[in-house]
Amino acid sequence: MADFTGKTVVVTGGSRGIGKSVAETFCEAGANVIVTFKNSIDGEYFDSKNIRHYKCDVSDSKQVQETIDAVLKEFKQIDILVNNAGITKDGLLMRMSEEDWDAVIQTNLKGMFNMTKAVTRGMMSRKYGKIVNITSIVGIIGNPGQANYVASKAGVIGFTKSVARELASRNINVNAVAPGFIETEMTGKLSDEVKQNYMNTIPMKKFGSGDDIAKAVMFLASDESSYITGQTLCVDGGIVMQ
Ligand code: NAP
Repeated sequence: MADFTGKTVVVTGGSRGIGKSVAETFCEAGANVIVTFKNSIDGEYFDSKNIRHYKCDVSDSKQVQETIDAVLKEFKQIDILVNNAGITKDGLLMRMSEEDWDAVIQTNLKGMFNMTKAVTRGMMSRKYGKIVNITSIVGIIGNPGQANYVASKAGVIGFTKSVARELASRNINVNAVAPGFIETEMTGKLSDEVKQNYMNTIPMKKFGSGDDIAKAVMFLASDESSYITGQTLCVDGGIVMQ
C-alpha cells in the first residue's frame, strides 16, 4: 500500500458504503482524512479512527465552500479529493418525476462541480493535487430505470475528462473509478431478482466490496499513477471491457 503520511484527503459521502471504505483505507495509510455526509454519521466510530467529519450537502455550494474553508483552516491544504457522494432515485422514464431527476443530478453531478471547484483553487496554486471521481459502469453502458442516475454518472466521466485537461499542466491528476455492483446500502435495497440479473452479467461471478473500490482509488490518488489523467477505471469483475 502507498504511504499517504502527511497528505490530507477529503472524501465526500464517507459516512458509509464505498466512501467509508475509502476513508478507512486512507486512514490506515497514514493520511489526515476528512469525510463529509448529508444526514447522519456514527461520530463515535469515526472519532475512534481519528477521522474528521463534516455535515455538508454537496449540492449546496455555500455549505461546500464553508466546509472547505473550515478544513483548510485546520489542515492548511487539501492534497486529495475523492468525490464519492451519490444517490439513486430509480424509475422508468415515463414514471420518473422531475423532483427525482433534479435530486440525482444535483447531488451526483452538481455536487461534484461544487466540491471540485472549491478544492481546486488551493491545488492549482500549490501545483499538486489528485482528484478521483466515483462514477459507475452504468454511466458507460446505460441501465433501464436509471435515466437520471446514468445521465449523472455519464456526466461525471465527461466532467473528469474536461477538468483533467484544464488542470494537467498544474500537476493535478483527475481520474474516475467506475464501480460495478458493490455490496452497500445503495444496492442492498434491490430485490433478489435484480441482484441475480446483475450477477449473471459478471464474468467473475461475484459482487465487489468497498475495499475493491478503495484500492483503485488509492492507486489513482498516489504518485504511482502520476502519468495517468482523464481516465475511467472500471472495477466491476469484468462487466465492461474497454
Ligand atoms: P451509500 O451506501 O448509499 O452511501 C452514500 C453516501 O453519500 C453516504 O455517505 C451519504 O451520506 C452520502 N450522500 C448522499 N447524498 C449526499 C449529499 N447531498 N451531500 C453529501 N453526501 C451525500 O452509497 P455507495 O453504494 O457507497 O455509493 C457511493 C458512490 O459509489 C456513489 O456515488 C454511487 O453512485 C457510486 N456507485 C456505487 C455502486 C454500488 O454498487 N454500490 C456502483 C456504482 C457506483 P448520508 O449517510 O448522510 O446520507
